[in-house]
Amino acid sequence: MSVVTHRSESIWTHKAKETTFPQLKENITVDVAIVGAGITGLSTASYLMNRGLKVAIVEANHVGYGVSGFNSGHLTSMLLDMKYSSIHHDFGTEKTQLVGQCQVDAINMIEANIRQYGMDCEFKRIPGFLYAEQPDQVKALEKEFNATQQANVPCELIDHAPLPFNTHKAILLPEQARFHPLKYVQGLAQAVAAQDELLFENTHVVGIDQGEQCVVKTRSGTITANKVVLGTHTPIGLWPSIQTRLEPIRSYIIGVRVNDIIADGLYWDMDEPYHYMRLTEDENGPLLIIGGEDHKTGEKEDTATCFKGLEEYAHRHYDVRSIDYHWSAQLYDPVDGLPYIGPTQAAPNVYIATGFTGEGLTGGTYAGKIIADAILGVDNAWAAVYRPDRVKPLASAAGFISENVGTVAHFVGDRLKPSEAQTEAEIPAGKGCILMKEGKKVAAYKDESGKVHLMSPVCTHMGCHVNWNNAEKSWDCPCHGGRYDATGHVIDGPPVKNLDKIEG
Ligand SMILES: Cc1cc2nc3c(=O)[nH]c(=O)nc-3n(C[C@H](O)[C@H](O)[C@H](O)COP(=O)(O)OP(=O)(O)OC[C@H]3O[C@@H](n4cnc5c(N)ncnc54)[C@H](O)[C@@H]3O)c2cc1C
Repeated sequence: MSVVTHRSESIWTHKAKETTFPQLKENITVDVAIVGAGITGLSTASYLMNRGLKVAIVEANHVGYGVSGFNSGHLTSMLLDMKYSSIHHDFGTEKTQLVGQCQVDAINMIEANIRQYGMDCEFKRIPGFLYAEQPDQVKALEKEFNATQQANVPCELIDHAPLPFNTHKAILLPEQARFHPLKYVQGLAQAVAAQDELLFENTHVVGIDQGEQCVVKTRSGTITANKVVLGTHTPIGLWPSIQTRLEPIRSYIIGVRVNDIIADGLYWDMDEPYHYMRLTEDENGPLLIIGGEDHKTGEKEDTATCFKGLEEYAHRHYDVRSIDYHWSAQLYDPVDGLPYIGPTQAAPNVYIATGFTGEGLTGGTYAGKIIADAILGVDNAWAAVYRPDRVKPLASAAGFISENVGTVAHFVGDRLKPSEAQTEAEIPAGKGCILMKEGKKVAAYKDESGKVHLMSPVCTHMGCHVNWNNAEKSWDCPCHGGRYDATGHVIDGPPVKNLDKIEG
């Protein structure tokens, strides 16, 4: 089943052509089946294939359809969402240094892949700057500088970031990089498909039987494999022990044309949520990417205001000529700050990789190496840090409790919320609303022609109620980040079944 959806266009989707790999149309047997053709699935595939394993990759849509084609393409050794100071506090020096090493090495691994496969994906080494814009942020920045040094990540404390507005102290990180993330994953896809021609697009995985041999089920064929890797950003299906430890977050990006001269670099401020910036270009010249305005998925009433917030930020800080791109995507914050990578006790032959926060381009890359090494039986010092079944009560207790209180509150509260419209006539064209019909809540979307599509608002993952996202014209579940397009087809997150249709 191909997923039908309207979505915002990222600069990366604008500048790259969609790939066209075939659909799976038979039953096949391989060593490893990988679900999802984003940076995680494809990095894992390339490491395994280079070591001689037979690997098949199945993708519900097309290569890079997920967040790998909708991010900002910063490659950094810094941790921005969960900072080194928190990781150091919760996990100690040794693990923090392993985390730092993963971040640094992942950029090198991406650069090595680009060379090995001869990819043209705009990769460029540039410095990064985490800066304090307000004087009262300097103390926290200095704390972060000390923690970054303790992580053995090369950095320097300088007086200002090279930006056209006033900043106070900044942490300078040498040898960071920027690239075109979609062209990179497409390059990886071409390289792995060149080997066994086992990359399948428009092939939605609807179930996995796991045992000694696993069977990955789609509507048009099956893949039997010794091991399965879920490169799906968050595990698909029911994984309560993991999904209750992840918080789904939406983040927003605009592409801005400015008159200012900006030094080529990666930039992050110390705001909460923070802004992230870098340069790129399209056929009309240089462009500044600005991201931020993060919020928990499904909890913002009017998501379009997030783009407005970024536009206002751009006008406050730069001499803006035009704003040419708007897009948004989803990330997953783990409760203790570190991704979950590897097999779980419940499914020892299925490997997951999730919780990358906003550093999943490096995260998906080292996850690929960790998982490939585990499958090949090669020792990997990083594996223990990211084990999905790690228990770290100090780090995760507070987040675990607050996240699950949130889930329960949505499960109950969203059912009791008043409906947003009384009748179909009240719904404006191009919008979705929750309304009451014959005493029951329904999710109603009125398309541009005035036709109303009715669906159950119950997320097919774990039964929470979805909310309308007007920026992306999607139905988003606040509990575990399941997302459906306007007419109820799965786009993102753990669900594998569409919203149930209701006859009008
Ligand atoms: C706005 C934003 C900006 C970001 N910027 C950066 C950045 O600058 N630097 C950085 O390091 N990280 C960044 N990140 C994070 C990073 O982009 C992600 O963590 C990373 O791309 C995740 O890659 P992935 O391969 O795990 O998942 P994805 O790229 O989402 O790939 C998962 C794939 O699985 C497929 N799939 C899902 N379900 C099924 C199914 N049932 N059957 C078959 N296929 C399925 C999907 O279609 C998708 O193609 C950003 C995130 C956001 C939201």
